[in-house]
Amino acid sequence: MRKRDGGGNTGGPTGWRKDYTVFTLIELLVVIAIIAILAGMLLPALNSAREKGKSIACVNRQKQIGIALHLYADDYKGYYPPWRTNETGADGPAYIENKFWHRGLTSLGYTTKNNFICYPRNATGSQIDVNGNTSNNIGYGYNYGGIGGAACSSGTGAANYVTPANIREIRKPSKVYVTMDTVFRDSSGIITGKGLETVYWGGYYNGAGMPDAFRHEGVVNILFGDGRCTGVKVSSRWDPYLTLKAWSPTKPYACWTGGRHPAEIE
Ligand SMILES: [Zn+2]
Repeated sequence: MRKRDGGGNTGGPTGWRKDYTVFTLIELLVVIAIIAILAGMLLPALNSAREKGKSIACVNRQKQIGIALHLYADDYKGYYPPWRTNETGADGPAYIENKFWHRGLTSLGYTTKNNFICYPRNATGSQIDVNGNTSNNIGYGYNYGGIGGAACSSGTGAANYVTPANIREIRKPSKVYVTMDTVFRDSSGIITGKGLETVYWGGYYNGAGMPDAFRHEGVVNILFGDGRCTGVKVSSRWDPYLTLKAWSPTKPYACWTGGRHPAEIE
């Protein structure tokens, strides 16, 4: 830093003198560079804090869904809502006319629409498909096989529809998945839907969603049968079933059926 004579110092006491300092260009550039480096270190931390905030909001929303489901069950003899009202009469006392479970819970007044959207506002960039494309499809899938009455016993399809789970019949509520971050993809990995209706219990199945490990950076937020919602870190974002377990008739995992299936394994 250089000191510059403020003038008037032409030799000999003059009665007044003003010394002030100026930065050289190099010094200014150094300061700017340091600020840039600090900002560069800080921004990722801020971004990750923002993502963390979104994940916490997501957990809270799914807890609200859990409360809505329990309120519904109180009014319908302990039954979870059917994932979708079907024509076979297997819904028992749990009944939502012509609606998917989330629309039913909303129209019956158990909760509000906003609770079914993981990101409340602009979600661009929250999901990435195999082509690197982003999507704002950001819903929660319902465990329709194990809980919602789609196919608890043997497989899938209308022939296998069963009554939705009754809360009293679920022997392992702390283990069973009820809803989770869900994405709809086609077999080549391209996002095709809102991930709002159903989450499939094992691998890819056309017409149902799969756990979405992308939107919260490797974590799937899951609502369990006991009303707890927590993030589960998966080993592979593309194949979250490696961690969450893929249900099949030969591998009827308790996390998907919670004590409803006779041959259930942990
Ligand atoms: Zn979420």
